[in-house]
Amino acid sequence: MDGGDPSFVPLRRSHGRRRIVFLGPPNSGKGTQAARLAEALGIPAISTGGMLRAAVESGSELGGRVKDIMDGGQLVDDAAMADVVRARLAEADAAQGFILDGYPRTESQVTTLNEILAERGEPLDEVVLIDAPDDVLRARAALRRAQEDREDDRKEIVRKRLSVYRRQTEPLIEIYDKQGLLRRINGDRTIEEVGQEVLAAVGADRDFVD
Ligand code: AMP
Repeated sequence: MDGGDPSFVPLRRSHGRRRIVFLGPPNSGKGTQAARLAEALGIPAISTGGMLRAAVESGSELGGRVKDIMDGGQLVDDAAMADVVRARLAEADAAQGFILDGYPRTESQVTTLNEILAERGEPLDEVVLIDAPDDVLRARAALRRAQEDREDDRKEIVRKRLSVYRRQTEPLIEIYDKQGLLRRINGDRTIEEVGQEVLAAVGADRDFVD
């Protein structure tokens, strides 16, 4: 601050106390970008898909219930997801803010999240939408299939997950757009390029200027 423009005050608003939702189709890169932004902001990235995969791997009761649904590319029911998200957001590290990656995915989940936020007395700050054309998403899935051999990367499951997204989750875009919360990002670029735009979209790019 010494010697510079006296009106320039480095913005630190992005640190903590931010509640951000990431929306986007499978293979849009939203998980990668949510994790990067969380790291930059010092808040947790909460991936509901990651939590459910961990539940399946641990052999928990929840894992047993959701395995076939996930393998089939379908959505886990809203009531089960409400329990998962409520419990996770009640943990200490989420008190100072969080990024939700993969939740909400249905209109009912939007309602649940609104209830949770109202109970906390905290509004949502931004909804970051990372999108890319279907052919790009399919090509990325094919690449991953070749590299990782993950069950939900199988061709017909990829198609299913994409159609579930377009039908059940895409309507959320309009809901959040109407609330003025939506930030649209073109995900058909490099991780670095998309990452820069994500930082700018949530006003965090200015935070690291000193
Ligand atoms: P993801 O890694 O976010 O693509 O999630 C992997 C899978 O977990 C999805 O295909 C769904 O079966 C399930 N899942 C994750 N998040 C949700 C959610 N919010 N609602 C319902 N199912 C979910």
